[in-house]
Amino acid sequence: MFARSEEQRLLVKSVRDAVERDVEPVVDRYGKDEPLEKADVLEVLSVLSEQGVLGRDVPEAAGGAALDHTTWALMFEELPMQVDLVAMITSEVARMVHGAGSETVREEYLGPLLAGEIVGCAGISEPGVGSNPREIATTAEREDGGWVIDGTKTWISNGEIADVAVVVADTDAGKTHFLIDADAEGFGRERLEMLGRRYDHMGQLHLDDVWVPEENVVGTPGDALDRTYQSFELGRANVALLGVKTARNALEAATAYAGDREQFGKPIGGHQLVQRLVAESATYVDAARLLAYRALSMFDDGEQAATEAAMAKWFATETAVEVTSNAIQVHGAMGLSRELDVERYFRDAKMLTIPEGTTQINKLIIARDLLGVSAFR
Ligand SMILES: Cc1cc2nc3c(=O)[nH]c(=O)nc-3n(C[C@H](O)[C@H](O)[C@H](O)COP(=O)(O)OP(=O)(O)OC[C@H]3O[C@@H](n4cnc5c(N)ncnc54)[C@H](O)[C@@H]3O)c2cc1C
Repeated sequence: MFARSEEQRLLVKSVRDAVERDVEPVVDRYGKDEPLEKADVLEVLSVLSEQGVLGRDVPEAAGGAALDHTTWALMFEELPMQVDLVAMITSEVARMVHGAGSETVREEYLGPLLAGEIVGCAGISEPGVGSNPREIATTAEREDGGWVIDGTKTWISNGEIADVAVVVADTDAGKTHFLIDADAEGFGRERLEMLGRRYDHMGQLHLDDVWVPEENVVGTPGDALDRTYQSFELGRANVALLGVKTARNALEAATAYAGDREQFGKPIGGHQLVQRLVAESATYVDAARLLAYRALSMFDDGEQAATEAAMAKWFATETAVEVTSNAIQVHGAMGLSRELDVERYFRDAKMLTIPEGTTQINKLIIARDLLGVSAFR
């Protein structure tokens, strides 16, 4: 699609080889919707850590991989869907701890996160708070030289198995990030069952008067919303990559099936309306991928890419829905059968149109930039 440097080619090949050798055999032990056991998640994360996938742009001096976002994305595309989100979010939590964690928190958690020895999650959403993080109702009050946190975080990726959670809570100084160890007293959780990506470890976190020391403030009290909105920008490009991967898998399945399946005396891929489904899907996938990489390369160049990331996010995830639906159409009834992966891709794709700003929210962000008028209150 675009030129890769020799170094990028080698890094991608190294990840691909490691995935084939050490990750796929673990993933293949599970059913297509089944989440990996925690021990297997950690085994996979340690392989990905060695490849630099968890270290992303964290400097080498801090134990990271010092990669640019484009190179990281090329490597990330090689991961099986069953383990991509757990790696992505653990890496994001490591970046947050490195970028804004206190020295104590960095010493205790950064190494294990980068090594894939522990799993991270990030908690913004609550039962009553989705698209507007300004309404976060979880509270944190100063007590005994630290903070007491009380509230519920929901739809938290990795929440079911995370060892650490970075959550946003409301304080007297404004919205603030806190790192909470899952071993802390008052920390509870449950698994949430969803339509798609059932292999993910989606959870709800119950924070029942959880005390954390002052050092567990990530950043400074009152600065969490700014950092959250900033992190959404890269997060949107990340979720766009998930959309591209899902759509590409479905397109590959549809293309192969169109060559094999025969009706009316020839492969269905020879019928013009099937060709249309395949041609449109292939174009959408490439367009989505280009949008994702444009945003990522702008981040690499230190440019503002909030609008471009919002474009990539809504387009790639809606593309995933369209292309996985087309793939079912190409497969006929087999596409709806649990026997094949195509119905899973469709369910998985729909999951992606919601996080990191729904499709609607991302369109409002783009229009706000173009028109100079905000539709948000
Ligand atoms: C796969 C997945 C992973 C997730 N991972 C995490 C995670 O790790 N951490 C975390 O904190 N959260 C996570 N979430 C939650 C996610 O961030 C929220 O679901 C999302 O912000 C939307 O919030 P909501 O679901 O409450 O929808 P709501 O905000 O209630 O929106 C409902 C509908 O109203 C529309 N809407 C809302 N406001 C407006 C508006 N101003 N204009 C037009 N339309 C509007 C939305 O587009 C949507 O269609 C995840 C969700 C999913 C599905």
